[in-house]
Amino acid sequence: MGADSNRGRGSNTPAGELPRHIPLGSGGEFDAIRTLLDRWGKNAHRIGDDGALLDARESPNVVVSIDTSVENVHFRREWLNPEEIGYRAAAAALSDLAAMGATPLGMLVALTIPDSWRGALDAIGDGIGEAASSCNAPILGGDLSRGTELSLTFSVIGTAQHPLSRSLARPGDLVYMTGSVGGSLLALRDLQAGRQPDPAARRRFAHPVPRLAEAAWLARAGASAAVDVSDGLVADLGHLAAASGVAIRVHIERLSVVHGISAIDACRSGEEYELVVTTPRELDTREFQRVFGLDLTCIGTVTEGDAIVRTFLDGGEVEPPTGYLHFTPES
Ligand SMILES: [Mg+2]
Repeated sequence: MGADSNRGRGSNTPAGELPRHIPLGSGGEFDAIRTLLDRWGKNAHRIGDDGALLDARESPNVVVSIDTSVENVHFRREWLNPEEIGYRAAAAALSDLAAMGATPLGMLVALTIPDSWRGALDAIGDGIGEAASSCNAPILGGDLSRGTELSLTFSVIGTAQHPLSRSLARPGDLVYMTGSVGGSLLALRDLQAGRQPDPAARRRFAHPVPRLAEAAWLARAGASAAVDVSDGLVADLGHLAAASGVAIRVHIERLSVVHGISAIDACRSGEEYELVVTTPRELDTREFQRVFGLDLTCIGTVTEGDAIVRTFLDGGEVEPPTGYLHFTPES
């Protein structure tokens, strides 16, 4: 059988010849998907088949990751509007691609929508679409279900020319951090106390930015190990130290911290989605600032040791500021 006779049968079909979306059948779930597709426009690709078809021939390293955000576990309804809930959940998943030094190919979206949230689906979809657009990560497929709690799960897929790993920090490396930390915890404290946060802090909490282009720059510049700040800077450096079997020394006074929070507390601030990388070479922080308009700060060093983070403030060693956990219903 010649190649032409195989066209349209799947494995030999060039993805470029398939329709933009596969026509959907009738029913409430499909009506909801049609509504989302209308809102997503060009941010959704070839929805409607049983699976997404990807062309990853450009890179030998395909990176996949999955992340879930659940109401009353990761956020509260009164803290965020539906667009922010959709955006933030997608951004959190995409940040893991950044931590791997990957460029997104796209993402799959699984939503569990309680009846009480049904009217907000369009707005949640708009937030997801904003993340897809701003991160160049088209929505490639997904699933919709009814359920008792709002839940958003994203499988993100990317490719990495220079994959980063938590396990590649080596003694002698320098430790760098992108951006500033502290804003997320600052906002969370106000929200938990029933106060409206300062707009800049609220934006850090509600609208984190995955550092995807920054990660690619850092990987090209020689970064080897990386982690995104989701549990708190020192806690995440602890994961990196454990994965690499090294000790990490952090000089807290060097951190770039948002206004209104101490550097010690900023170390505990989770869901920041800044990147921390280690590298055997000094990085050009001015060039980074010029390209991205964002700080890149050398905050410490990697030494021989066993899975430990040691923190110093103004020359003296201090107890590592960990202990902040994600929002929980009890908190
Ligand atoms: Mg992560």
